Amino acid sequence: MCLFCKIVEKEIPANIELENEDCLAFHDINPKAPIHILVIPKKHIDSFNDIDPETMAKLTPFMQDVAKQLGIDQTGYRVITNVGSDGGQEVKHLHFHILGGAKLQWGHFTDADPREYL
Ligand code: AMP
Repeated sequence: MCLFCKIVEKEIPANIELENEDCLAFHDINPKAPIHILVIPKKHIDSFNDIDPETMAKLTPFMQDVAKQLGIDQTGYRVITNVGSDGGQEVKHLHFHILGGAKLQWGHFTDADPREYL
């Protein structure tokens, strides 16, 4: 079972922000911005290459709800999904990064220390 499937099964603890039947949002363990959430489908999908329209249709409003719940929907945020080795994907379970809580610099997020924003 992959790392994020273990989080879905609650075999590994995570700081969960929002959950429903199909989707899970939890705080990234190594945040790159003051707010850094990972949103995943509960069913295992390797990457964005393999996502089906039905799952995407569930993830989209869920991600919007996460942004609203965190109060960043009006101030703005960034949604990223890394795909494969050139994309820098480390965990092979599809996840969308939601980054916000500060004015993000383009290109800064990969090596960012969230304290630099405060
Ligand atoms: P990626 O490089 O796009 O595959 O992103 C994987 C992300 O998962 C990284 O930002 C990690 O900090 C994060 N991560 C890895 N393990 C955990 C964990 N146990 N709980 C929360 N986030 C994690």
